[in-house]
Amino acid sequence: MNIVLLGGPGAGKGTQAQKLVEEFGFAHISTGDLLRAAIKEGSKLGKKAKGYMDAGQLVPDDLVIDLVKERLEADDAQGGFILDGFPRNTAQAVALDSELSIMERTLDAALLVSVDPDVIVKRLSSRRTCRSCGYTAPAGTETCPRCGGEMYQRDDDKPETIQHRLDVYATQTAPLVEYYKGHSILKEVDGDRPVDNVYADVKALLNL
Ligand code: AMP
Repeated sequence: MNIVLLGGPGAGKGTQAQKLVEEFGFAHISTGDLLRAAIKEGSKLGKKAKGYMDAGQLVPDDLVIDLVKERLEADDAQGGFILDGFPRNTAQAVALDSELSIMERTLDAALLVSVDPDVIVKRLSSRRTCRSCGYTAPAGTETCPRCGGEMYQRDDDKPETIQHRLDVYATQTAPLVEYYKGHSILKEVDGDRPVDNVYADVKALLNL
């Protein structure tokens, strides 16, 4: 199954993706995680992306599209994938469609995890992320419950950047809801509930 996850920053896309990956073995393709890994490695891509990410802006399309194309071609993505954080605008959605059509593959669903922006601001400002594996947990968690790595606050989870990320989502990414409605693959789940309740609905919506 090939799935795109949509939803504002902090809506819980990564958490739901993680659960689907653990239960069904899909490849988890998170452009945010891939970009953070590139920054950590100090690669050319990481150097180009860092300024945009710290400012809560989108990294230029060509950089992200190349990253996703490479990941879609990897062996582990052939049995199904979950795209988390991509596409983020219409140009990326069109590029994804054309890449998939070259690969003779299709998207089965675009799943929108909806959460009210006020809830998102609260969630993100208290979110901590593992430096090693990207696991997220509330503030106060100092050691990653999954891998024992150090938990830190992402620069773009600081209050001054959160509003900007929400604005970027509203203007650039939210139009994709109509895009995927037009392709008759949009599904929507209320993300403002406990993780397991959201997950039960996600599976039902995806017929899993
Ligand atoms: P995320 O972890 O998905 O919240 O992404 C963190 C940051 O990475 C975003 O605020 C952007 O700066 C960058 N980013 C992630 N995915 C994309 C994308 N598809 N297009 C452009 N920038 C992205």
